[in-house]
Amino acid sequence: PYDMLIVGGGPAGAAAAVYAARKGIRTGVAAERFGGQVNDTLAIENYISVLETDGPKFAAALEAHVKAYDVDIMNLQRADALIPAAEPGGLIEVKLANGATLKSKTVILSTGARWRNVNVPGEQEYKNKGVAYCPHCDGPLFKGKRVAVIGGGNSGVEAAIDLAGIVAEVTLLEFAEQLRADAVLVNKLKSLPNVRILTNVQTTEFTGAEGKLNGLSYLERASGQSQHIELEGVFVQIGLVPNTEWLRGTVELSRFGEIVVDAKGATSVPGVFAAGDCTTVPFKQIVIAAGDGAKAALGAFDHLMRMPVV
Ligand code: FAD
Repeated sequence: PYDMLIVGGGPAGAAAAVYAARKGIRTGVAAERFGGQVNDTLAIENYISVLETDGPKFAAALEAHVKAYDVDIMNLQRADALIPAAEPGGLIEVKLANGATLKSKTVILSTGARWRNVNVPGEQEYKNKGVAYCPHCDGPLFKGKRVAVIGGGNSGVEAAIDLAGIVAEVTLLEFAEQLRADAVLVNKLKSLPNVRILTNVQTTEFTGAEGKLNGLSYLERASGQSQHIELEGVFVQIGLVPNTEWLRGTVELSRFGEIVVDAKGATSVPGVFAAGDCTTVPFKQIVIAAGDGAKAALGAFDHLMRMPVV
């Protein structure tokens, strides 16, 4: 059995693996896709001390760092069940989709999250070519340009307020008749001179030319009229979904499906810790996920040291 088994190989899982291995304990990492969301990222300019890199390069560096230590990497392996230890100090089991069962004294869950897509024509085609999901990451790329934000919940309205300070103009599109964000955010948004708010509209297509986004089409739901706006960027803000469906009923989750963790990364299950975008940690960023992975590994190591000798 492992001393520490990490499920998920993004920035959080990789950091946890390096911290665990440096304690000289038996460490394994099972990941559906090593590198995680970073693989889908173009430019990364906010990982402190690395002025600029790109996703695939960063993912390769994560893997190289983990491989520099004695860690069992099980790539392309999806976990589909977690079975808590039968008694205090017992082994925790992780069942893989391929039928295998891994056993470990402690487990770190770092399965990340995925952005919900609008699923309209052009979205996949112009992803990273004008279609973006993370204002903290990609906002500065659109300095002085025209952008739209899809989604009028808290994250959409926050994104629009944030972007309004950087870009030339922001158009916010909401499907419902009213914005769904907190009143204080909505009032702030309405006070900004370079923001236009469209409600009761449905985005129908992202348009582009020569491999770059150049606009979007939407339907005015009341009149049935189709409209098109020209712009350089779109931020999709209709939800970030944690990859925790497989943990439902085993580990305490928030109403958004995030794993509830304490200050050391401990979950509701003894010996099971969690880190990164799959947890309740606020702000989903690489540098935050990596720090969180290190913290959860130290939390789990602390737990290991206190385990009764059997
Ligand atoms: P993830 O990176 O999501 O990794 C999760 C890992 O778990 C993966 O290995 C995955 O395959 C695995 N996994 C999932 N489910 C299972 C399962 N059941 N069994 C086994 N393995 C599983 N952040 C920045 O700071 N700067 C940026 O510029 C930036 N740009 C971004 C651009 C895009 C397009 C996207 C999508 C995100 C961007 N982010 C950026 C956000 C950043 O990528 C995430 O915050 C970060 O990757 C989270 O790390 P994580 O380790 O928690 O999760």
